[in-house]
Amino acid sequence: MTVQEYLQNRPYQPSALKYDTLTGEEDVVAKAIKEIRAMAAAGQRLCLRFSGGKDSIVVKRLCEMAGVPYTARFSRTSVDPPELLRYIRTEHKDVIVEDPRITMFQLIIKKGFPPTRLCRYCCQEFKERNVCGRGDGILTVTGVRKAESPRRKSRSKYETCQADKGVNFFHPIVDWSDDQVWEFIIDEKLPYCQLYDEGMSRIGCVGCPLASSDKIEAEFRRFPNFEKAYLWAFEKMLEGRHFDRWKTKYDVMDWYIYGSGEACDKAAVCGQFDLFDEDYFDRLGGDGTTYALEAEQVKTVLGM
Ligand code: SF4
Repeated sequence: MTVQEYLQNRPYQPSALKYDTLTGEEDVVAKAIKEIRAMAAAGQRLCLRFSGGKDSIVVKRLCEMAGVPYTARFSRTSVDPPELLRYIRTEHKDVIVEDPRITMFQLIIKKGFPPTRLCRYCCQEFKERNVCGRGDGILTVTGVRKAESPRRKSRSKYETCQADKGVNFFHPIVDWSDDQVWEFIIDEKLPYCQLYDEGMSRIGCVGCPLASSDKIEAEFRRFPNFEKAYLWAFEKMLEGRHFDRWKTKYDVMDWYIYGSGEACDKAAVCGQFDLFDEDYFDRLGGDGTTYALEAEQVKTVLGM
């Protein structure tokens, strides 16, 4: 469903951004601005982890409306959709863009197996490494929302990362619904990435192992050059290896899209991986275990 279809089909409401409470009408925008100002007034340095997605553009606008000093940072992953990069370059020139020190494809070759739902070494490299900073005076601001996924339902507005001690998070729109996010974007006339108009509901790394098989398939249809690049990496990864049940890059691709879930489950049962899910901002409470595996472990995990 495209953004326009979504907006046309939702039930009528005077404004999704205001609602009645026991103490009167509450305006979620005014509330968020007040809280952002309070954090800045308390001496916190605000650093927005910007993704270019709908939630982070809302938080960025709220910081602007609050009139507080903040910085916004975007970490490229090398599998970002070109439309997203173009949108950030043209509409958010003030965002600091951090280049990756290695590409996803080089990383796959180096690790010897593709990232999986349970073994997201790419997230560690591209996202977790690039936190805004540690310490009491720095707040990493994000667009994380409870409505994004069942797993995020229990998220709080203020959190401290147990996996990376000393990193403090502030999620100003954690309680906002999808309607509220889009209503704000339309009200404020915020330009957004064109991929939403193609029906994408979440925009991020192309071919992310956290996505469903259907979504990965659709992304590779939409971005065929990324599929080619993954296949290139799988081929390079297999060079000189004899222990594999994978004989060709296509076997790896098949496993990557349709079969890795089973191997992940097996690995998790064996206790070889920590069970964490989603992306970096869902890792709160994890123990920060490294993902780097030895060749023997790779064989076990992949059932070779
Ligand atoms: S979002 Fe997905 S593809 Fe991107 S770095 Fe994290 S696990 Fe890897």
